[in-house]
Amino acid sequence: MTISFRTRLLLIFTAVLAVTLTATTLSALRATDANTRANATRELAVAERVFQTLLDENSRELTDRTTLLAEDFGFREAIATNEEDTIISVLANHGDRIGADLIMLMSPQGEVLISTHDIGADLGRVRAGLGSQASAFSLLTLSEHQPYQMVMVPVDAPQRVAWVGMGFLLDNDLLGRFRDITSADVTLIYREREAGNYSDVQTLSTLPTQPLADVDLLGPYDEVLAQAAEQLRDQGLLSRYATLLDQPPVHLGALLTVSLADAVAANTRLRTQMLLIALAALVSAAVVTLFIARGITRPIDTLVAAARRIASGDYQHSVSLKNTNEFGVLGQTLNTMQNDIQQRERHIFYQARHDLKTGLPNLEQMAQRFTELTPDDQHPVAVVLVRLENVSALSDVYGLAFTDEIVRLAAERLVHRLRPGDIAGRVGNNEFLVLADAQLAGECDQALAEYLAVFDQAIEHQDIDVLLDVRMGQVMYPEQASSFEDALRRANIAVSDARVHGQALERYQIGRDESHLRQLTVTNRLQHAIEHGGFELLFQPQYDLRNRRIHSAEALLRWHDDQLGRMFPDEFIPLAEQSGDITQITEWVVTEAIARMTAWQEEGHDLGVSINLSARDILNSHFIDRVIERTAHAGFERKNLMLEITESAMVTDTELALTHLKRLYGAGFDLAMDDFGTGYSSLAQLKTMPIHELKIDKSFVLRLDEDQDDQNIVRSTIEMAHHLGLTVIAEGVENQAALKLLEQMGCDAIQGYYLSKPMAIADLKPWLAAFNETTLESSYG
Ligand code: C2E
Ligand code: CA
Ligand code: CA
Repeated sequence: MTISFRTRLLLIFTAVLAVTLTATTLSALRATDANTRANATRELAVAERVFQTLLDENSRELTDRTTLLAEDFGFREAIATNEEDTIISVLANHGDRIGADLIMLMSPQGEVLISTHDIGADLGRVRAGLGSQASAFSLLTLSEHQPYQMVMVPVDAPQRVAWVGMGFLLDNDLLGRFRDITSADVTLIYREREAGNYSDVQTLSTLPTQPLADVDLLGPYDEVLAQAAEQLRDQGLLSRYATLLDQPPVHLGALLTVSLADAVAANTRLRTQMLLIALAALVSAAVVTLFIARGITRPIDTLVAAARRIASGDYQHSVSLKNTNEFGVLGQTLNTMQNDIQQRERHIFYQARHDLKTGLPNLEQMAQRFTELTPDDQHPVAVVLVRLENVSALSDVYGLAFTDEIVRLAAERLVHRLRPGDIAGRVGNNEFLVLADAQLAGECDQALAEYLAVFDQAIEHQDIDVLLDVRMGQVMYPEQASSFEDALRRANIAVSDARVHGQALERYQIGRDESHLRQLTVTNRLQHAIEHGGFELLFQPQYDLRNRRIHSAEALLRWHDDQLGRMFPDEFIPLAEQSGDITQITEWVVTEAIARMTAWQEEGHDLGVSINLSARDILNSHFIDRVIERTAHAGFERKNLMLEITESAMVTDTELALTHLKRLYGAGFDLAMDDFGTGYSSLAQLKTMPIHELKIDKSFVLRLDEDQDDQNIVRSTIEMAHHLGLTVIAEGVENQAALKLLEQMGCDAIQGYYLSKPMAIADLKPWLAAFNETTLESSYG
């Protein structure tokens, strides 16, 4: 469990306060108790003095009264005359009047003449007093086990004739009076000793119960007092002992007590009050602390809430703390942080949606914009992919930083020209995408033409003028595509077609997508075939019209794919050329051809093989190296391997193609110009080319017997080729008529269905055998 900051603050404050309050209260209470005790002690001391004073006053009063008696004339007369009856009667009378409890008459010598009590042991002290005192005196005494205050007054007539003594019992009246004055209790203790032991102990007390019931009052005096004090303390009494008389054998003392319990009871009230006050203080302190803690924690709570909010991604609300202290600063910091995060997030958000180099929306963003533009599929939009074809080539020369800038400048130009509402984005390294409103077809076309035109001017950067090779592919939504992805894919196809067709802007043709898809599949599967096999070479014999024999065969590629079935080269060769896989395939063909010729050589057949090289092969110096290398030590002559080339290689890079052809020519290969007549090259150009043979394209041969034009073309071609020192082979010979014509025209060799369709290697040998025996000789002899 986590204790909140506020609770913790509250607990700590309250705990500290509680400790402090307890300590103060306890010490105050203890001081009060001590004070109470000290007061009581002082009270007892005062009480003792009061008690003494009371006794003294009592004795003075008694003395005065007794003196009155002693001075009574009749009384003196009676004593002087020794009239016993009169004496007794006066004494009794008088004693009664002044309330004496004990009456005694002594001779001046100390002889007891008359006495109501037996003074007993104390008589000695009385007698001693008589001797030393000239006038009246008082003393405390025990008589018949009762304490008395005795007053002895001389009777002088005028000589001293007697001492009259009056005794007043120290009784409850006296003690009560004392108690009334001092509110202290008094307990008189009087003991007599006989033969060293206390024989008699008496107590007289104002206390309601005998306070010393359990004390052994016969023990040694100090012990008795200690025990008594302890016992009294147990009863809640504070005591003080005053010795009134200690004349062995008589001991008389007063034990003064005040009730501590009463004083403390008053304190208990005080204590309760103090505890209540402490408690109230604690509660109010807790409340105040809570209030303060709230004051402290409220900004913290605000900050915590703000931090939580920020963590959950809500940056909309700023923290508003009025505080100018650290909390305020923290709140301010939080706001700054929140702003920073917000900005950074916006930046990231922007980055996620834009191309950083051009600042144009990226592909994802364009998809989003497309959906916004086409809320229903009613609104026509032209989706146009703009490809900068030569950017990669430029970056090879000038570096990436340079072309990045070129692309940026190109984007700038394009965006500058956009119609309001049209959108441009960067969807690939060298590709922009334009979404153009096509509500009005004419205006849309016009706009696209303008967009294309922005690239007509060279872009200048670092003093270099760059002309961009731009192709655009256009797809109409929703007419030609059902979704953005659809449109984008088809625009891609249109762009590729634009390049193939040499157009700047190509409109997507319905159905292209499907064939494109097929092309993709074929390209994919081709790769699979290169790795796992599936190719086969067929051979189509070539007939030497001069020596009247099959001197060679053209190797023609077939491919059987598990998924696509039987594939013809017219479909897959162009795709392999596009994807760049062709050279790997040609290498396979070379390998097969070499193996074939080696075998034939060993079997004693003198048969050459023609293989077809594509433009990419001829421009690939590694390929040229390998062909030369691999035929260096083969068991056949290189001139038996005829390499058929087409003009397309010449068109792409004439110089490089020529260099490579010269190497092949120099190495001794037989070189033939395939499909002659379909391209642009003229016979004049052939003069400079290192080739041995012309292969007249089958389009001129297939209907040669029917078509006079074809005959003229073929005838002149043969003548001129011969003129240039080249041999001529005609392909596509399908009938005897064509063959005869060609022979008449002086053609060197023929190839065609009339002889044989391309056939599997296994069929070639039996075919050759059969052919040599019969067919051709007889058929056109
Ligand atoms: P090509 O080099 O002009 O090959 C001749 C094509 O004409 C072959 O078609 C062949 O079967 C066909 N042909 C031969 N005699 C006749 C005839 O009397 N009448 C008709 N109508 N056609 C005839 P194929 O085998 O389908 O090859 C088509 C093209 O594919 C070839 O044209 C060649 O350009 C390419 N090709 C074939 N194999 C390879 C190869 O191994 N490498 C490369 N680079 N291209 C190849
Ligand atoms: Ca060929
Ligand atoms: Ca051909």
